[in-house]
Amino acid sequence: MRRCWRRSSARVALAASLVALAASCGDARRAPPLESAILITLDTTRADALSCYGGPAGATPHIAALARESRVYDQARTVVPLTLPAHASMLTGATPLRHRVRDNSLDALPQSADTIAERARERGLSTAAFVSAVVLDRAFGTDQGFDTYDQPPRTLAQTTSHAGERSAADTIAAAQAWLAARDRTRGFLLWIHLFDAHAPYAPPADCLAQAGGDAYLGEIAAQDRALGALLDGLRADGTLARTLVVLTADHGESLGEHGEATHGAYCYDATLRVPLLVRDPASAGRGDRDAAPVGVIDVGPTIAEALDLRALDADGVSLFRRAAPPSRRLYFESYYGYLSYGWSPLAGCFDERAKYIHSSQPELYDLASDPRELRDVHAERATDVPRYVDAIAAAAARPAFARAESDRVDAAMLERLRAVGYTGGGAIAHALPGPLDASALPSPRARADELARTLDALGLSDAGRHAEAVEPLRAIAAANPRNYVALERLGNALVLLGRHAEAVAPLEALCANGPQWAGAHYNLGVALYQSGRQDAGLDHFRRAVALDPGHVQALDALAKVLEARGARAEAAEFRAALERVR
Ligand SMILES: [Zn+2]
Repeated sequence: MRRCWRRSSARVALAASLVALAASCGDARRAPPLESAILITLDTTRADALSCYGGPAGATPHIAALARESRVYDQARTVVPLTLPAHASMLTGATPLRHRVRDNSLDALPQSADTIAERARERGLSTAAFVSAVVLDRAFGTDQGFDTYDQPPRTLAQTTSHAGERSAADTIAAAQAWLAARDRTRGFLLWIHLFDAHAPYAPPADCLAQAGGDAYLGEIAAQDRALGALLDGLRADGTLARTLVVLTADHGESLGEHGEATHGAYCYDATLRVPLLVRDPASAGRGDRDAAPVGVIDVGPTIAEALDLRALDADGVSLFRRAAPPSRRLYFESYYGYLSYGWSPLAGCFDERAKYIHSSQPELYDLASDPRELRDVHAERATDVPRYVDAIAAAAARPAFARAESDRVDAAMLERLRAVGYTGGGAIAHALPGPLDASALPSPRARADELARTLDALGLSDAGRHAEAVEPLRAIAAANPRNYVALERLGNALVLLGRHAEAVAPLEALCANGPQWAGAHYNLGVALYQSGRQDAGLDHFRRAVALDPGHVQALDALAKVLEARGARAEAAEFRAALERVR
């Protein structure tokens, strides 16, 4: 995506003043740095699921104890309600407009982006990440700067790539083993990501009971229990006395609010608002509450300052031992509906008073009087809108991190793919509209029924009930040919049912007109290959690998097919790539 400075625009002046404000905050007298920092990110965890934010008592006692020792931010929001882009923003301090990771499984974080882990390593700290789902696979660039990047194994058994996950207990155990074996002469930066609260909700029975029978809260109770073991150990051995702890979430979960079951499609606070706890040992025990508007983009700068790292080129600001700047307007977006269902993109910003959501049907909510965002006041408070639009424009005017064509693609593999006509990271070529571009596409809010029907069908598909999912998915795709998810799942279901010839049409429509998804190209490859069109099938396996160089199944298919055809040298390259990513 190309961005340019609008030199004559007042919006640039606004952007410059915001940058100047951030810089002046950074000039305050620095406190002595801390030795180490731990970033804990709870996937899919609503702030109000935690007792420290008014959630049910008893399910999250260890997080409650941490909150009593932390500064607790009551108005913290994510920048995008999707796992990979939100984590990219935490690690870089930049909005998705700048780091360019706009959805899961789409683009990798560019190598030109600077992360807190790279800054920490540069300063001589040990760096380690323990993530619980392969949506944060190292292929997507969130591993930048981590000496250790520990993730669940990729698996060939799944029907789509990046489907593996592991429990909080397993992830915490791996992190504890690393902590026990670490070089104690050096400080460290440790990132722990827990994925239990992500659907489907299937907590252990005792955690379910602890949460009063609520399965979603039961998953959060399981996270809390695992965290308790970690924090108790660090408290006992004195590590916490020298360590900053930041706990937050990448996004919440709608749980039916606004007609959304999970997260991603909308930007209401059910998914945008997140917990944010900052435990500074110097002030631990105060349990301060802070109502300033803050965001996950502040996580990276806060950790950078606490550890006295070189400052990030960030959109967020450091919250370390200081209040957030007054009158901030923080950007957010979701292009998930645009990329998945062919709806208008959502972009917006919020401040201490209101939240503006831009789309083909703009919305404005008074957060103080209407925290559940049930009454749109866009029409009656139209004079408020320009300042929010200007803030979005200012965020969009900042230059994006440079993307190299070779980002995340092995050079030899890139050459091989270029020779057959593909450039690396093919999804990058999929140009997205700007956040304020006019859109004739339907606003996501007008499509709650389609979303519900789609999610119901996906539920059948997720449960392995593919035969039952076929007709609902076919009806959804017929009514909205831009519902790319329905096309993809329809094709996937038909492939799994062995109805390969039927699967070709929806997958061809998707791959020709929709976003370039590696998994869809892989499935189309299977459908074509099994329908007797073997060369065309091979072509789409190659496209899958061009889009996702770590696509295990496509690499495996290419290696096997090429070996069977006697193309041993080329097969060996894909086999080697497969070994590297496993
Ligand atoms: Zn997530």
